Amino acid sequence: MIPLIPLIAIDGPAGAGKSSVARRLAERLGFALVDTGGIYRAVALAAARRGITWTDDAGLALLLSTWRIEQRDGGLSIDGEDVSEAIRAPEISRGASTVSARPVVRDGLLELQRSLALQAKRGAVLEGRDIGTVVFPDAAVKFFVTASPEKRATRRYAELSSKGVTISYESVLADQIQRDREDSERAIAPLKPAPDAVIVDTTALTLEQVVNRLERVARDKLMGGVGDS
Ligand code: C5P
Repeated sequence: MIPLIPLIAIDGPAGAGKSSVARRLAERLGFALVDTGGIYRAVALAAARRGITWTDDAGLALLLSTWRIEQRDGGLSIDGEDVSEAIRAPEISRGASTVSARPVVRDGLLELQRSLALQAKRGAVLEGRDIGTVVFPDAAVKFFVTASPEKRATRRYAELSSKGVTISYESVLADQIQRDREDSERAIAPLKPAPDAVIVDTTALTLEQVVNRLERVARDKLMGGVGDS
């Protein structure tokens, strides 16, 4: 299916800076933003709250058929409650990695991710792990944003510390290595660049430099000038 609006896929490992880059790029282009990692995190949080273990396929299927998840004002709500902060907790990162390896969850979230993007008026930026490979293989523009494991852990550590989360750098790095492994080695939709993705290594770049680069490539590929008018 060729999407009728321009879609930009930004995939890559944890802590590569995808979220900040995707948000800024979407703002510059006047596109909607779909944070698909946030949706997997919401599944993990909602499951934990309902007492469903993260490997209980029947429980997860029931959850996905009965919950109400909405994207609002750049955040996510479950059954009307804003969970944008709660889904960022480190234990929920682990849960998201676990639930995201379950086919029942991946299949169950496919249509939701697509419909959130296709509701957009002008276009959408989607960030995740398998946007360019599975969710929208026909996206107009695909990026794979990455950085060294140490740099990624340093960024995540700074982000968590600034939010008052007490955690050591070592545990952030260990957790990230574990998630990278699970995400890359899982049987379905493993983390890997789409063959036609533009690979951007952000290790030595500032956020501004990364956004500038993506914006340039995106505008070129979208035939020069989306958002210029
Ligand atoms: O990007 P973020 O760290 O918020 O994603 C949380 C977890 O959700 C990832 O570690 C990954 O396991 C999973 N995920 C995924 N596919 C996506 C987005 C996220 O499997 N498209």
